[in-house]
Amino acid sequence: MGLDKPKKVYSKRIRNLRRMILITVAAACLVPTCICVILAIRYDRLKSAYDQNKVDLEWYRDRFGDEMSILAGGNETVNTSDKVVSDSEPLTEEFETDYSDIYISGAQNPEDIEGTRYVYLTFDDGPSSSTDEILDILDQYNVKATFFVCGKPDTRYTELYKRIVEDGHTLGMHSYSHKYSQIYASLDSFKEDFEQLRVFLYQTTGVWPEFYRFPGGSSNGVSKVDMSELTAYLDEQKVTFFDWNVSAGDDKSGATKDTVYANIVNNIPKFKHCVVLMHDAADKKHTVEALPEIIEAVQAMDDTVIVPITEDTLPVQHIKK
Ligand SMILES: [Zn+2]
Repeated sequence: MGLDKPKKVYSKRIRNLRRMILITVAAACLVPTCICVILAIRYDRLKSAYDQNKVDLEWYRDRFGDEMSILAGGNETVNTSDKVVSDSEPLTEEFETDYSDIYISGAQNPEDIEGTRYVYLTFDDGPSSSTDEILDILDQYNVKATFFVCGKPDTRYTELYKRIVEDGHTLGMHSYSHKYSQIYASLDSFKEDFEQLRVFLYQTTGVWPEFYRFPGGSSNGVSKVDMSELTAYLDEQKVTFFDWNVSAGDDKSGATKDTVYANIVNNIPKFKHCVVLMHDAADKKHTVEALPEIIEAVQAMDDTVIVPITEDTLPVQHIKK
């Protein structure tokens, strides 16, 4: 009996030691495995974000390359003679517009403003790797906006088109290709691009869009076709086009979160109906960064509401029809 006690203690120690060894071995296997799994998931997320950004940027570079050659006079298929686009102008998709000389429908004189001011936030060029973030912010503030989208058949965009619609925003058209040299080459090429986008959006979302924003606006000055022919065609199709009277300037070089905020918030008080131009693009992160503060500032303005474009919206248009 006297000899059993140290034996028991000894075997208990052995058991403890064995348990410790097992735990150590298990930990030595599990910890690196967990780290590997976490890293693999993170890598996968970063990789898909990187791929999406890459696709976005390639799309954009493709378009900008096109516009750069037009602005530099390198593309002979587009007539720029009716508007001088100097090299000093920023190489951007939307041209600087002098609002003093153009027709903008609606009660735009601040003196005339009575009652509610309507602010329409609009996003061009999407969907993109920024769309989800923009939609999250709009959702957070319970705000509905309008997305003038292009035709991007890559399946990674499919859910974004659908989410825009499912979240209750207005889906508008902004050309399928966004290539000025194609869209504005002739009335027929415009029609072809328009139909391609409309059918694509209907097949993707089930929505038959009723609103259009011309790439570069109706006052773009690079169209080979008289813009009145294109607006007449949209009329026939019962589609209303919208330009803008407030611009984020997020497509200008040197744009920052602060300039985007100031361009919008300082100009909204000038109009009763504010159609605000912004961009939904991978390289326009300032817009996303500024968006929450812009919405807060607009919501804090007296008698001002943020609403999506609907068939009842008074269009803001740069050219007289
Ligand atoms: Zn655009």
